[in-house]
Amino acid sequence: MTGYEELRLRHVRDAMAAAGELIGRLDWPVARLAAHRDAELRRLVRTAQTASPWHRKRLEHVDLNALNEATLAALPVMTKDDLMANFDEIVTDDRLRLDVVEDHLEALTAADVAAYLGTVRHMLRELAAWPKGAHPPLAAMIGSGTATHMMYAAGRTFSTPQLGTRAFAVAQPVQELVAGLGDCQPDLLFGYASALHTLAREARAGRLRIAPRFVISTSEPLLPEMREELEQAWGVPVLNYYACSEAGAVAISCHRGGDWLHLADDLVIVEPVSSRGHPVPPGERADKIYITNLFNHTLPLIRYEVTDEVTLLDEPCRCGSGHQLIADPQGRLDDTFDYGKIAVHPHVFRSPLSRRRNIVEYQVLQTACGAVITAVCHGPADLAELEAELLTRLTELGVPSPEVSVTAVGSIGRRAGKLRRFVPLAGASSMGDRQGAHRPAKTPGPGTQSADATGTSRMADLS
Ligand SMILES: [Zn+2]
Repeated sequence: MTGYEELRLRHVRDAMAAAGELIGRLDWPVARLAAHRDAELRRLVRTAQTASPWHRKRLEHVDLNALNEATLAALPVMTKDDLMANFDEIVTDDRLRLDVVEDHLEALTAADVAAYLGTVRHMLRELAAWPKGAHPPLAAMIGSGTATHMMYAAGRTFSTPQLGTRAFAVAQPVQELVAGLGDCQPDLLFGYASALHTLAREARAGRLRIAPRFVISTSEPLLPEMREELEQAWGVPVLNYYACSEAGAVAISCHRGGDWLHLADDLVIVEPVSSRGHPVPPGERADKIYITNLFNHTLPLIRYEVTDEVTLLDEPCRCGSGHQLIADPQGRLDDTFDYGKIAVHPHVFRSPLSRRRNIVEYQVLQTACGAVITAVCHGPADLAELEAELLTRLTELGVPSPEVSVTAVGSIGRRAGKLRRFVPLAGASSMGDRQGAHRPAKTPGPGTQSADATGTSRMADLS
């Protein structure tokens, strides 16, 4: 048996052993969840104080006995810049160094067990009722196709006899996706919202013939009209997974109660804040969140900034769950670029850009035959090589005589603190509207449907 396969099977065993516990927590009452978060927070900060040189300097004064969710706001926040600049000092395992980790990203296949289970535990609970004697369910995952993205890595790592997975790259031509899905006939369809949206149209046009039991949207905002189209295409529950690579599943749709989501209240602490970092109360849309990942002690992320707009809802769910409700996040719209009949998913750009670690921010503006890209670089980045890679990818997808330019800039213009990363040609004129001009003061809670779909922002990819 290969080293990889041995490692993979060990992860599968770990996951199956932990599954019961993590599924059980879905039914924990509010008070038990809160006590669990406080205890896990103290355990995490203790690890950070003792084993992470970077955190030790910042957190040595923190009194663990007085630390809880309510006092967490006194701790300093951390950003992606902090993470990239201090990675080797932040990790708690001496063997991990950023260069070592980066060298292995291409081959990376092991995803964290808790991150994986946080993503699939709702599904495993539903699958407990899978008909006896029927074939084991098969999940098709339409994502980035590279292991640097969590969804793909998790799908490969945790494929088991109980739940098979097939991974498809979102950037491949839609005809190939349709053919591949038709061949494997998945029971669960899991993928980027925009990719599912395209597939729903293929299904309604009669070209894609599959009958999934569940459709699970992730990585991009699931806008109300997209949700509706997915439901019409397959007539089954459409679940929205709000997640990021840094923390796994942050929130997941409650298909038992309504179109809102439950926070993974046992795995993360989410603090909704304004652009200046002030707390935002439930019912109001936050400009960003600080996320504390309670289960990753190897890379402690404590009050880590994620620039997503999140709205906590101030009422319990009809399903009886004790997990905090949030509205469907609408703040991560990555539009598809259309070049005549060729549709290019933003991932074609996002993947090469996100792999260059010195590019900390970017914006891709579609042009008639390609794109103009501005990038904020912290450190050297070979932009000519990046241009060449993007040209190759566009050519492969059939864009005629593509043109791409990448320019380093000091900063990228934002409106109301938001960055729109992908701007299609047709959407450029409506940028003002799309970036929060119609932001409501309140977001409707359970029982009403939010019609607002404004705003985009930077989001760590769960792919
Ligand atoms: Zn619910």
